[in-house]
Amino acid sequence: MQQLNRRDFLMSTAGGLAAAGLGFGASQLPAQIAGERPIRDKTVEVLNPRMRVPLSFIIDDSTCLVNLNKFAVPQFAAAWNYDRYKTQPWRKWPDEIPDDFVRKFGNWCGEQGVKGKYSIVPYPACVGRVDRELPGWTSRELANSLKLVRELMMPNWDIHPEMITHTRVIDTKTGHPYPQRGPEFMENWSWTDGKSVDELADYLAYALKILKNAGLHCDGITTPGGFASRVVPQLAQATLESVRDVYRSEIPHYFRFVIADGEKSVAPRVEYASGLESRDPKCVVSIIACTGDWTGGWDCSEPVGVDRFISADLKSGRMVDVIERGEPAIMLCHWTGIYFNGEEIGFKIFQEAVRRMHARYDHLRWMKLTDIARYWAAKELTRVVRNGDRVTFTAPFACPDFTVRVPAAKGAQPVLTSAGRPATLSPVKKVGQLKSGGWVREKSHVVACFDLPKGKSTLTLGGL
Ligand SMILES: [Zn+2]
Repeated sequence: MQQLNRRDFLMSTAGGLAAAGLGFGASQLPAQIAGERPIRDKTVEVLNPRMRVPLSFIIDDSTCLVNLNKFAVPQFAAAWNYDRYKTQPWRKWPDEIPDDFVRKFGNWCGEQGVKGKYSIVPYPACVGRVDRELPGWTSRELANSLKLVRELMMPNWDIHPEMITHTRVIDTKTGHPYPQRGPEFMENWSWTDGKSVDELADYLAYALKILKNAGLHCDGITTPGGFASRVVPQLAQATLESVRDVYRSEIPHYFRFVIADGEKSVAPRVEYASGLESRDPKCVVSIIACTGDWTGGWDCSEPVGVDRFISADLKSGRMVDVIERGEPAIMLCHWTGIYFNGEEIGFKIFQEAVRRMHARYDHLRWMKLTDIARYWAAKELTRVVRNGDRVTFTAPFACPDFTVRVPAAKGAQPVLTSAGRPATLSPVKKVGQLKSGGWVREKSHVVACFDLPKGKSTLTLGGL
């Protein structure tokens, strides 16, 4: 891995990029500040967890009960004179995406092992706040809907606010939308232009607190459409501050970017790392989706379809490309198109994509975004020093299934020691059997997998 210095910038250039969801397309990933990076011995390679390729599924525009985009379209149309909003038959769309569908979707994903991120827009399209009242539904219906998210979704899905309303900007002093209606008072367009870290953090915290009041846990945020597209460094810092303030999250993350084709890396960016060997290490992780929404879109438009993810012969498609590279392959969709006014067209496309990926590969590992963020933070921010057959890790963050490839002599018997307690790792015959506490031989190397503790630990190979 490339070693990064304190003041390195993670530069990204144009190519195959689109904004997440609605609004302006980003032509490039703006320069982000990586922050501190520790010394890492080049002969010790940090691999994917258990040598599996992480997969995840990002769901935007979901919330409790409200079919967000039915209520959003007239607000978009009032803010911006764009032909598409005039022709969308939003009056015909249902008011609700029912909890029965959430249950069906969540159960199916649970059976398949699928994990990801599920937005709960806190004050969806100004219809009502999920911590107070949703006009159009009883308080019992809202309470049951939140309970379903807590019990069925939260174990396998990160919950994110997708800002406050996804439409009009809320004055955080009054709790009401600003009276102005132009794009500069829409969350998904230009309100964020020129905003400072503090202003953005105040806005993010307002969104996060609504979800906290509603009994939901968050470790990250999703930007609606073009939110913060011109203030991305500020967004990263505001995420770090607000998610830590409201939820005490150790490793906050945000979803802002999509790279839907081409060769550019889609690995998470670990940003603003600081205090790595202090009592209070910090960083924020930018999670990048590697596909467009090829399910049912945010407005139930004609879907691109499953083949773009993975073809019927299982040989090609964007997911195949990214899985073959070994980078986290994170799919994107919008809840509106997954439900598709009851036709479930997006859901069917997703189900077929999962079936095809599972048919081709046996080394995939579905993970929540927060688990991917933690793994990448540990991978990039753990100090790794090798001295003969001893490797010492100094980890700012604990990390399950930490997997490393280390040169090792014949007869090696890896032992992990932390807090003075040695634990002998168990050999497995095949890479596919690798799990925490195990190791496998690869020619002149050993691949070891263990739960990396926060602080210092030592891996002794032996057998030299
Ligand atoms: Zn959205």
